Amino acid sequence: MAKKLAVVAIGGNSLILDPKKVTVEDQYIAAAQTSKHIADMIEAGWDVAIGHGNGPQVGFILRRSELAAKYEGMHEVPLDVCGADSQGAIGYSIQQTLQNELIRRGIKKPVATIVTQVKVDKNDKAFQNPTKPIGGFMEEAEANKRQTELGWNMVEDAGRGWRRVVASPIPQEVVEIESVHTLINAGTVVITVGGGGIPVIDDGMGGCVGVAAVIDKDFASSLLARLIKADLFVISTAVEKVAINYGKPNEKWLDKMTLAEAKAYLAEGIHFAKGSMAPKIEAIIMYLENGGTEALITNPENIGRALKGETGTRVVKE
Ligand code: ADP
Ligand code: MG
Repeated sequence: MAKKLAVVAIGGNSLILDPKKVTVEDQYIAAAQTSKHIADMIEAGWDVAIGHGNGPQVGFILRRSELAAKYEGMHEVPLDVCGADSQGAIGYSIQQTLQNELIRRGIKKPVATIVTQVKVDKNDKAFQNPTKPIGGFMEEAEANKRQTELGWNMVEDAGRGWRRVVASPIPQEVVEIESVHTLINAGTVVITVGGGGIPVIDDGMGGCVGVAAVIDKDFASSLLARLIKADLFVISTAVEKVAINYGKPNEKWLDKMTLAEAKAYLAEGIHFAKGSMAPKIEAIIMYLENGGTEALITNPENIGRALKGETGTRVVKE
């Protein structure tokens, strides 16, 4: 069999196994577990490019930045740089644990992380209506000050205080895609578009400039899968399968969906929760409608079994 290429998107939440165990060391253990399952895939003959989330991790970085500013007068870290920091740290833990796992199995294959910028359209309508809450809560006076001085968009969150919201625009372009191609062609396992990529816009001179926004990692991984013409798009998350009527008495776990079924279920609006499963299904639809053939949603420990068709939810073109 000719080597096949897969994109595996790892959930930021799946790198936190227990909400009470969130230290860097704990996250490293979680990364090591996921890396074992990805090593199984590589051992089974797959070439792999890895995308990952960063929701909880970027939250920790922002919190540190806020506390250091409040109590020590330190400079705050801008959101795009928090994203870059998280790509580096999460990428490091995946590249080290996966590389170690491959070495132990006698597989000679380099693993490397690319700090990745993802271009968004500055006219994306998401910028007119930022909805994604970021960072800690604050008092109204502080919120007003930041709105005036820094141009932040602030919203009051159900009596808990004021919080910054940013846009979540659609990813248009992976700036480092040439380097991604080069590394994949050289046999390297590439970790890229971490946290959905660092959002950048056109700087008007053919270059890029960072913006305060967040990109959905499922959307960015889908774009990556389309750009590198992956044969398979795997979304590794906290559930073994996808359900329709999720959480309801008539919940039904699915082994398989066609593209048409996925679109119909999504349109019904009752099956996939907004902000968690819905973006994954949308990401898969975009992949299948733009050259992709097959996608799989399962949890890290079941990737091997799901590839053999024993579990997971498979989404196929027809
Ligand atoms: P990730 O960090 O991997 O993106 P999310 O928490 O964003 O994880 O999304 C995965 C979660 O989506 C699952 O853990 C599950 O609780 C939830 N979910 C929502 N709707 C469904 C559904 N229809 N079937 C399965 N899981 C669902
Ligand atoms: Mg998610």
